Amino acid sequence: MNQGVISSLLLLPIYSKLVSTQRATSTLTPPKPPDSEFIGFPSVTVRNLVKMPEKHIPPKIESFEDLEVHLRGSLNPNKTLALLLDYDGTLAPIADHPDKTIMSIAIETIVNKLAKNPNIFLAIISGRALDDIKNKIGINGITYAGNHGLEIESADNSRHDYVLSEEILENYNRLVKDLQENAVKNNAWVEDKRISLSFHYRAVPVNMKEAIKQEAKRIIEKHGYTANAAHEALEAKPPVVWNKGEASVFLLKQQFGEDWPKKVNVVFVGDDTTDEDAMKKLQGVGKSFRISSDPEIKTFADFRLTSQDLVGDLLSWISNTYENEE
Ligand SMILES: [Mg+2]
Repeated sequence: MNQGVISSLLLLPIYSKLVSTQRATSTLTPPKPPDSEFIGFPSVTVRNLVKMPEKHIPPKIESFEDLEVHLRGSLNPNKTLALLLDYDGTLAPIADHPDKTIMSIAIETIVNKLAKNPNIFLAIISGRALDDIKNKIGINGITYAGNHGLEIESADNSRHDYVLSEEILENYNRLVKDLQENAVKNNAWVEDKRISLSFHYRAVPVNMKEAIKQEAKRIIEKHGYTANAAHEALEAKPPVVWNKGEASVFLLKQQFGEDWPKKVNVVFVGDDTTDEDAMKKLQGVGKSFRISSDPEIKTFADFRLTSQDLVGDLLSWISNTYENEE
């Protein structure tokens, strides 16, 4: 038997497991492994063979005037806009506790206005559980993606759930129990979202934070979940190829068809590492904005908003752009 045949036989069980796991666990269509680095649309894939998405230090935007300078002419108001927005740290400032976050009156007003614009498709894509984010926003007739896109409710109320395997769900229950028993102390706590969780350590005394965070990270990874850094929290996500990026592309395809990049302007706004998955997918086909005060931050986004309150300015600028054309 030659070397190539032996290598193929050795790899076969691994590949079979990957395929069967994905088939058995998803009602949403996960990407084929070889395409996972691409946008997911043939013409865009070809374009990205030349230039793969990469992180960079993007231009900063710190005022309404900067928006004018950087964005003038970049959104064609004759084309529908797909506006994809994160919530925590984006539409609402981070608070001591997730229950306390609230949108400013200005942002709430402009989001409601954008939701009513017939030329705008609005989707909120959050790490929160679906019902939680729906309650926080409180607007009917828009699309919501909760749990980092694992559960989606479209504007027509249809549901799209990524079905996790029994094994992953059992691991999740073990993970919650393990964290509760071994890492929930000194004011740290677990936000249990049924299929993913957030481990919050904001209220832990400063000198204990790092140790508790590291212990939680170790436990999360021990149960096969991934631990993404968030604001004073760890996001524990199931080991599946489905994230805010996959969810964004799914929504765009569902709403506009396979050739969505030709049909719509896409704007994505987020503040966290989990948002980078969407920014990566949209690099070169949409405009993404990463909110961060860190001038050195590397991101897949096209621009950095230097503070959360600039989101109101950005949404106003978008609203004006779409109104002026009517
Ligand atoms: Mg966020």
